[in-house]
Amino acid sequence: MKMLVRTLRCFRLSTGWKYSCYSTSITETTKKAIEFEDTGTAYQDKSTRDLLRHMFVFSIFSYENIVNRSQKLVKFARDILGSKMFNKVMKMTVYGQFVAGENIQAILPVIDRYRRNGVRAILDYAVEEDTPNENVVLETRSNAASHLAHSSLTSSDYEHFPQLKPTITHADRTVRASARTYFYDTEKKCDDVMKNFLSCVNMAADTTVEGDAAFAAIKLTGLGRVEFLLKLSEVVEGTRHMFLDLADGNDICTAQVTPQSFHSGLRAKSIMVSQSEADDLYRKIDTDHKRTISVYDWINRFQPGNDLYKYFQAQKGFGTLTVMEDDDLKQMQSVFQRVHTIAECAEERNVRLMVDAEQTYFQPAIRHIVVHVLMPKYNRERPLIFNTIQCYLKDARETLKMDVEYSIKSGFSYGVKLVRGAYLEQEREGAVLKGAPDPLWSSKAETNQCYNDSVECIMKRIRDSNIQMMVATHNKESVKKTIEL
Ligand SMILES: Cc1cc2nc3c(=O)[nH]c(=O)nc-3n(C[C@H](O)[C@H](O)[C@H](O)COP(=O)(O)OP(=O)(O)OC[C@H]3O[C@@H](n4cnc5c(N)ncnc54)[C@H](O)[C@@H]3O)c2cc1C
Repeated sequence: MKMLVRTLRCFRLSTGWKYSCYSTSITETTKKAIEFEDTGTAYQDKSTRDLLRHMFVFSIFSYENIVNRSQKLVKFARDILGSKMFNKVMKMTVYGQFVAGENIQAILPVIDRYRRNGVRAILDYAVEEDTPNENVVLETRSNAASHLAHSSLTSSDYEHFPQLKPTITHADRTVRASARTYFYDTEKKCDDVMKNFLSCVNMAADTTVEGDAAFAAIKLTGLGRVEFLLKLSEVVEGTRHMFLDLADGNDICTAQVTPQSFHSGLRAKSIMVSQSEADDLYRKIDTDHKRTISVYDWINRFQPGNDLYKYFQAQKGFGTLTVMEDDDLKQMQSVFQRVHTIAECAEERNVRLMVDAEQTYFQPAIRHIVVHVLMPKYNRERPLIFNTIQCYLKDARETLKMDVEYSIKSGFSYGVKLVRGAYLEQEREGAVLKGAPDPLWSSKAETNQCYNDSVECIMKRIRDSNIQMMVATHNKESVKKTIEL
């Protein structure tokens, strides 16, 4: 099974199991089965009551005023109805629509019903609140301000990666959020989130019948301090930027750092080292003695906190390399430990782990952890870890190309979930606030084109490499196009 088409995603509104469904294996039978106009087949497993609930819930959600005020309305309804009645009403409506159930007994019949109709489930366990405790938001806000005040980078450094410039928007990420948002509270809370993700992996394994693929989804912002992820993003972007300063070309996918470009790059940055010192430094980076260093190898050599990183960080010419304090390194260890624990569990239980893509200021860190830390270790034989590419980003094609090339070159399998992107309004507002260029395509048509091109790019590669793709969309045209390819 090389490809999965995921066609429906449900959002959790309260405690319970969220489920997403997908249909698998593009066979002739599946092609026939996915007739979008054939509502009889599409809704054959639904009772009239289910359909009425769909209609009711989606009609409510078509009113922007209601959606924008949903948190207030929910609070108001709970105050008026009391908890017991409120829960009952929610279960009959929104909760019942989007949540598969509160425990394995409740969700098994739902999964089974879908399965009988050729639709499989992706479980997403969610116990913590979408709306954070007010103190946590205040603290996150003050941490974001302190990160800004104490950053080792200057405003001009941020010109190289303006989307990472810390602002107060990093604090309350629930504003205009269309996806679940995690907030750092304590290390214990991160451990608890990890345990929830582990439950999700185990539950996905327990509810999947033999022969089917089991899936679980996780969000890395649940596993560590926001400021750490921001710093790691700065480290990755700073290292990339340094690569381009020292490479023999501007196309990051094809450029290489050669001994010559390295020497001339150092000179251009006014880093005064003798020829033999420069040769020595180059040898330390070029560990496989190929005399050409790609961006992937470059990023792998410069681990935050290692001697090479510290050396270049101390050079004034490379002011864009952020300082990683001992505390940051400790936090990095904790986050890496947590993701490895989840990935090991996924490996043991044979559950594919999809790591969600989030806001652009977290993405360099998330992508680094997924593609450089997890995939080389766990995707040796098959794509167990899936990265997410957001096609509303202008650099989505480049990112996808780089990831695929890196996986092929390094001999691991690549798993990718293609989405359009869930943070459109937040990203646009954030860019204006930071005075940064808009990272998103300016129109839906461009996003659609990028999505279709990305599907096509993967489909071309799928035939001769060990790549798996999840077309994670509700868009009929995208699903149709994928099936046709
Ligand atoms: C299984 C699954 C997993 C997902 N995981 C993630 C994830 O990890 N990270 C994430 O960010 N999202 C994720 N999403 C959400 C996804 O990114 C989309 O927001 C959502 O699915 C709607 O897009 P669509 O492809 O279904 O189709 P459509 O409804 O056709 O597209 C809507 C999307 O198009 C884009 N768009 C709309 N207007 C414009 C415009 N003017 N300019 C540029 N672009 C525009 C936006 O991305 C918008 O969300 C996931 C969705 C699914 C189904």
